[in-house]
Amino acid sequence: MSSSPISVIIVGAGFAGLTAALELSRKSIPVLLLEKSPSLSQTLGDIISFGQNSSRFFAKWPGVLEKLDPIIHQSTEFHFHDWQGKFVTTQSFVEEHRKWGTRVNGHRGEIHQILFDQASAQPNISILLNQTVMSYSETKDSAIVTTSSGHTFTADLVLAAEGVHSRARSKILGYDDHSRPTPSGYAVFRAWFPSSPLLTSNPLIKHLVYPNGDTHNGWIGKDVHFLTASIKNGTEFSWVCTHADDAQIKESWQFPGSKEKALKVVEGWDPIVQEIIRVTPEDRLFDYKLVFRDPLPTFVSPEHGRIAVIGDAAHPFLPTSVQGASQAMEDGVVMAACLDIAGKDKVQEAVKVWERIRYERVHAIQKTGVQTREQWHKADWDAIWKNPDSLHLKREAWILDFDAEKVAYQRYQEVRKELESGEKL
Ligand SMILES: Cc1cc2nc3c(=O)[nH]c(=O)nc-3n(C[C@H](O)[C@H](O)[C@H](O)COP(=O)(O)OP(=O)(O)OC[C@H]3O[C@@H](n4cnc5c(N)ncnc54)[C@H](O)[C@@H]3O)c2cc1C
Repeated sequence: MSSSPISVIIVGAGFAGLTAALELSRKSIPVLLLEKSPSLSQTLGDIISFGQNSSRFFAKWPGVLEKLDPIIHQSTEFHFHDWQGKFVTTQSFVEEHRKWGTRVNGHRGEIHQILFDQASAQPNISILLNQTVMSYSETKDSAIVTTSSGHTFTADLVLAAEGVHSRARSKILGYDDHSRPTPSGYAVFRAWFPSSPLLTSNPLIKHLVYPNGDTHNGWIGKDVHFLTASIKNGTEFSWVCTHADDAQIKESWQFPGSKEKALKVVEGWDPIVQEIIRVTPEDRLFDYKLVFRDPLPTFVSPEHGRIAVIGDAAHPFLPTSVQGASQAMEDGVVMAACLDIAGKDKVQEAVKVWERIRYERVHAIQKTGVQTREQWHKADWDAIWKNPDSLHLKREAWILDFDAEKVAYQRYQEVRKELESGEKL
């Protein structure tokens, strides 16, 4: 076996790319990470959630949990109301935290900055910002990317972690689906802002941030749900409102939102919900159209198997799955474990094993996003009043009580044999 280390290029420094980089680095595999943004912006994005299955990864990277602790949501209860404000049920997360560990929920920009700093500090991770990868190619021995500035980089393997607009998908598919996301029929208004307007404007909404510190509430109506979370001991506040919308636009995290339109969606709803929207600074409100992409037949380039798509580039998730970032991270962790086992001479084998370990799990979890939305949006209220807990988020052990790294090391050889015997995905 070759004694030189595997060389890996990662395209995109989101949670998929950074996790893959940190895990490869931890296993002494050097990484070149190319990111199109010229700098990071902590203001981009809002609430993002990591289930126990991915929160466990933060503990692998020294000092990261300590940095996360002061900025993540601390409450362990989720209070549900019907659309008119009648209390329905409280879901407690105490027991699952005890069994499976804690979750990490917080501001996407802030958590992202912590991981980015961690990756920047590793001597075997080189990060180049302001590098937009325009094309991917491969030979039987190497994978190549070319950036918009005309630079070419070569490695044993390229991991395309470029998010939903991935260019590498066309390399995998053999045709361009860059501009072909399918509208899901839903959109989300999203807001995050310092909670002072909730404290000062109307006593009706003060309890959401004071004296209760971090709180988590949901209001469920016909084809609409409205969720709130306060954070950092109630000093910051976020809300999301998912509603029917069939607009045909591209995915974007920074599409400006309109309070007037948001208020229209919740017309006649609990005055608390309407007041939250009224006090929201308009420049902190965004409108995000939710789109689907059909599942890819494979995550790996069919020609030489040296280019793989990971994270949202491979499998975008609906927010109601609460697993998009977690699955992006699992991709990186499992890839690093597979490459660690296989070594430089068997990079292509490692990538095929990785795909097989990931494919079924990712697509099964993707479906839970639709199930949760339907459970809330098409709720049978007579049945719910008889069994209020049926509104609870499904918290399933097969998703959350899962150690992706351990499973990868356990399953590698068995999966390799399946591949050798010609079993299909
Ligand atoms: C700015 C931003 C804000 C977000 N905010 C939220 C949020 O508030 N809540 C939430 O639940 N999810 C949010 N998401 C999505 C969430 O981070 C992802 O769904 C999930 O974490 C999967 O991550 P990913 O790494 O696969 O993709 P992403 O997080 O989308 O990361 C992809 C990365 O690749 C880079 N990139 C793209 N194309 C190229 C290219 N050609 N060359 C080089 N680099 C490239 C992008 O700049 C980005 O940094 C946001 C994503 C982004 C990019």
